[in-house]
Amino acid sequence: MGQLSTVAAASGAGLRLRKGELLRIVDTEGGQSGDLVAYAADGSERLSSGRTFDYNGKVRLTTGDVLWSDRSSRMLTIVADDVGRHDMFYGPCSLEMYRMQYGADNHPNCHDNLSAALRAFGIDPVFLPQPFNFFMNVELDDEGRLSIVPPRSRPGAAIVLRAEMDLVVALSACPASSCNGGAAPRSVGFEVLPR
Ligand SMILES: [Zn+2]
Repeated sequence: MGQLSTVAAASGAGLRLRKGELLRIVDTEGGQSGDLVAYAADGSERLSSGRTFDYNGKVRLTTGDVLWSDRSSRMLTIVADDVGRHDMFYGPCSLEMYRMQYGADNHPNCHDNLSAALRAFGIDPVFLPQPFNFFMNVELDDEGRLSIVPPRSRPGAAIVLRAEMDLVVALSACPASSCNGGAAPRSVGFEVLPR
């Protein structure tokens, strides 16, 4: 095991992954979701929810499934998953979202966390892709209605993703209480493991 780093509650973090390396994300306290976006290391490709749904043939992603880029390259493969329920429908929470839905003037948000983390690694995210929202638990009913329910992740639950190309990855520990079972935002752990 490598050194477990922390994405502080309601904050973001960036990292580089080389092809073959593993990113392990840990829900340290349980019940906390977060956002992941990935870019090719040179910024030429970015995560695509549409391609990911298409090439996996499903919208619920777990062990063995691949996160694809907008140029149809494999970016990350889920190689282990303690939780089995993640979301890729929702965009990152943003200041505009908190204004519209909560009437908040100012609020930490995943959009800004992810953008700042990417910029620190030389990626200018003019338009952020749809994130892979790890541990976020969304129900989809027969009429296509979405509802956010508490994450299934228990304390210490983890997901492990293998880089299929050299990547810049940004993570955010989501501050939206609706995505975290109504609880106050908590931190998320992560570590990079060698190939
Ligand atoms: Zn968020």
